[in-house]
Amino acid sequence: MANSKTQLLSMYKFVLSISLICSSLFVQAQQSENAYKFSVDLTKVFKDQLTVELTPPQINTDTVLYRFPAMVPGTYKVYNFGRFITDFVALDAAGNELSYVKPDRNSFQIADAKKIKKIRYKVEDTWDTDKRADFVFEPAGTNIQKDTNYVLNNHGFFGYFEGMTKVQYEVMVKHPEGMYGSTGLNNVKREGNEDTYYVNNYHDLVDGPIMYCKPDTTWLNVGGTKVLISVYSPKKLVSSKFVADSLHDILEYQRLYLGGTLPVNNYAFIIYLTGNEDGFKSGSYGALEHSYSSMYTLLEMEPAEIAQTVKDVAAHEFFHIVTPLNIHSYEIGDFDFNKPKMSMHLWMYEGLTEYAAHHVQVKYGKMSLNAFIDVLSEKMNIADRYNDTLPFTRMSLLCLDEHEKEYGNVYQKGALIGMCLDIQLRHLSKGQYGTQELMADLSKKYGKDRSFNDDSLITEIVRLTYPEIGEFFKKYVMGNEPIPYGKYLEMVGLNYEASRTEMVLDPLGGYFFIQDNQGNVRIYGPEPNSFGNDIGYKNFDVIKSINGKKVTPQNMEQVLGELKQMKEGTKLKIKIIRGGIFGIPKQKMTLKGTLRKSEKVTRHIITIDKGASETQLLLRKFWINK
Ligand SMILES: [Zn+2]
Repeated sequence: MANSKTQLLSMYKFVLSISLICSSLFVQAQQSENAYKFSVDLTKVFKDQLTVELTPPQINTDTVLYRFPAMVPGTYKVYNFGRFITDFVALDAAGNELSYVKPDRNSFQIADAKKIKKIRYKVEDTWDTDKRADFVFEPAGTNIQKDTNYVLNNHGFFGYFEGMTKVQYEVMVKHPEGMYGSTGLNNVKREGNEDTYYVNNYHDLVDGPIMYCKPDTTWLNVGGTKVLISVYSPKKLVSSKFVADSLHDILEYQRLYLGGTLPVNNYAFIIYLTGNEDGFKSGSYGALEHSYSSMYTLLEMEPAEIAQTVKDVAAHEFFHIVTPLNIHSYEIGDFDFNKPKMSMHLWMYEGLTEYAAHHVQVKYGKMSLNAFIDVLSEKMNIADRYNDTLPFTRMSLLCLDEHEKEYGNVYQKGALIGMCLDIQLRHLSKGQYGTQELMADLSKKYGKDRSFNDDSLITEIVRLTYPEIGEFFKKYVMGNEPIPYGKYLEMVGLNYEASRTEMVLDPLGGYFFIQDNQGNVRIYGPEPNSFGNDIGYKNFDVIKSINGKKVTPQNMEQVLGELKQMKEGTKLKIKIIRGGIFGIPKQKMTLKGTLRKSEKVTRHIITIDKGASETQLLLRKFWINK
């Protein structure tokens, strides 16, 4: 999974024409007598709900639990999909309702289970529901936009009987004329407006989201793997052709990175872009990985603006085909949808994946060394918001409850653990072996259907590599020692400075200007300096005027230029309005002060060591080919 906080966007300038290159999937329909047989009719949306019908497989117990997941793989968060189910009925052959109770919000315990002939219920989508005890991150949720777009994350629509997740599923979807269902599921029979999907078990059904809309699809061939790129862009700003062009190179490089062949025959990038400027209800955008696809919910932007985001997020999700999809512990391999157990190895599932997504770009020339250094420094700065002495393995085990707030660090420190491990491995092997080779070795040893014991992975990695790697894990991943970044960066000829303090003249006191959507200039600063505190600035103050000069979105760049010219000792008189945002009442105020120098702290400064030795340069070459 990957997610980021939504950023406000502005103007949409031009519209790209959509491309339409359709290709039909290999059809190998099979039918089974004893299968879950589901049907849902997308043309019948009533009150933003869809009706799902199930003809169940043979049930041999007196009572049975029909369940929706509390959680699904890859999200590391409990969502309780049963919350979105209403009007549930279980019927016998004569159409009589069988009685049931709800032992928890995801489960229906049905009496007289052997008599069940049909189950029917309504599903409300998660994306725009008001039932939001806590939100569902959109790539894991469901969308019902009548006659426009349907996101079937199947666990939101279809459940399972307790103890019967290994039974086959047939899911028939009736869709509006002209729509296409984009998915990584490859056993599908498409007949007119009815598609039937065949999967071997519930895990595979959850693993294969489907998006229905008017198609804008492009197919790529990446070393023999058929890759579908499907885009829903309501204002037609971004086409699948554009995304495919942006991704083609990086997918080729990822193939090389993984040793020349991709571990899957087919793959789908399913991309939903929202035209809503406020973004999604969850306040985040991002994606969720699966074995043969990944589902994206991003903001609709001009293609040039969205290209790097798509590359970064798609590279991350695509690399999940390595881990956790092909290297995982039993907690993930035998995922329990209602009592999920966590693994201690998020440093690998998310951290190493995030590292590889950037590493591949720099190593194969898609990203400059300086841009890569910026990525590393930014990750170090964001990681500072989290607890650096909490053992990463412990955070991972407890990320659903006690350490929920620390989860986001998997994309920051998790990736940095990956980087330091990679450099340390290259150092010990004189350049010959890094995380790239390590992951290939682990994929060979394990794979999609073979899990490892959670507490034996590190031992296995040490066995494959060097005793020093055991020390690395003991101190920096399982232990509470912060990673000495400088030590590792030095090995590859990069300088590292943990922090630098300078004295600067800054009339904005460490804040910077931002615009709100009402034409105001406000200030924001994660770390104001002592002058900013003295004069009394607060985050989100509206700056009306500075020394009599009005400040507007139109002239704020010019005002910034003038502020930079101010001399020490200049008297400042700043008219502001505090509040008028986040429900805080408005208050006019005047702030006064005399401009003086104050400290500016910059953290995690990485630079290229111009005097690096041959050994350092050689190791850097092995590491990132730069
Ligand atoms: Zn991820």
